[in-house]
Amino acid sequence: MIVKAHLWHVAIQLLTPFKISSGEVSSKDTIVVELEDEAGRVGWGESSPMAGPFYSPETPDSVWDELNEQLLPWLAQRAKDPLTDLLGELAALPTSGFARAGIDGALWDLRAQRARMPLYQALGCARRDVPSGFAVGLMPNVADLLAAIARYLPEGGYRRVKIKIEPGWDVEPLTAIRKCYGPGLILQTDANASYRREHIPVFKEMDRFHLAMHEQPMAKLDFDGLVELRQQVRTPICVDESAETLPRLRQVIDRGACDIVNIKIQRLGGLTPALAAIELCARHHIPNWMGTMPELGIASVHALHLAMHTNMRFPTDVQTSAHWFVDNIIDPPLSVCDGLAQMPELPGIGFEVNRPKIAQYLVREQTFNLPS
Ligand SMILES: [Mg+2]
Repeated sequence: MIVKAHLWHVAIQLLTPFKISSGEVSSKDTIVVELEDEAGRVGWGESSPMAGPFYSPETPDSVWDELNEQLLPWLAQRAKDPLTDLLGELAALPTSGFARAGIDGALWDLRAQRARMPLYQALGCARRDVPSGFAVGLMPNVADLLAAIARYLPEGGYRRVKIKIEPGWDVEPLTAIRKCYGPGLILQTDANASYRREHIPVFKEMDRFHLAMHEQPMAKLDFDGLVELRQQVRTPICVDESAETLPRLRQVIDRGACDIVNIKIQRLGGLTPALAAIELCARHHIPNWMGTMPELGIASVHALHLAMHTNMRFPTDVQTSAHWFVDNIIDPPLSVCDGLAQMPELPGIGFEVNRPKIAQYLVREQTFNLPS
């Protein structure tokens, strides 16, 4: 039974603004969800939209409203139901995935703690190493791009590099990276949907870089374009924005529009639908990897637990807390050593949430005492 719920809207600055083809981010706003059960156990979740509506329509304000006006009133009515029932019902509620993801994550943390097992085990995964790669945003020039890679690549011994591309910023930076690091570096691109079918010759040209994949090269609903691109280039095509919901992912798979799927827990609506998406892909022999928005520590840790799933075949985008943000809200901070995310073997998410840090970066908070 859930007896209490608390929302904390927290904002932490990024160390440096991150630029993609559709906008720029300089602050991480997240809604931390704390759910307490009748035994005093506390489960933690995080609803973590982008700071503005350029990536998806959701914003911190819209997600805050959905949590306050729809999801917590729903939870108040269902607080005595078994956790598994709550997780199943939640997945069908008509709110944004970002809002549901916060409640879903906290319920899964509680479920794992009650079973006295780490979250990955509660999710049906066996413990295994989670390799991490790092991502570089759009850069003003090649010198700055190479300087960023030289600075960050050795930090945690990251296992691959992903660069953001857009029309006009693709062959040149990739040529420079291959010249500097040789063919051994695992390298991939993310276009954030910025190309069209007329650009297919550029993708043919990029085949010579032997990239691990092109992520979301075309618009999320341009399935014909993705199919045509797959037919004409050798580099595997990964979808991200196209896989925004489970029904949409089914369409993508049915159309044969991808080789690989990037799993975004927040956009899909939490660990429950993300697990269903991974299992759907596995049935179609389509490998996955774990993406990030990026989130603060709680949702990052949720992602790392699910990244232990056997259908996760490529390094995750989840990086150390210190890579992105001026501070973090979990203890110990997320770290990557020799390219592997460092995960404790403890019940639930396995990390402590740092309440003084939440207070330090608090924008607003709300408590719900649920009827017992
Ligand atoms: Mg992406």
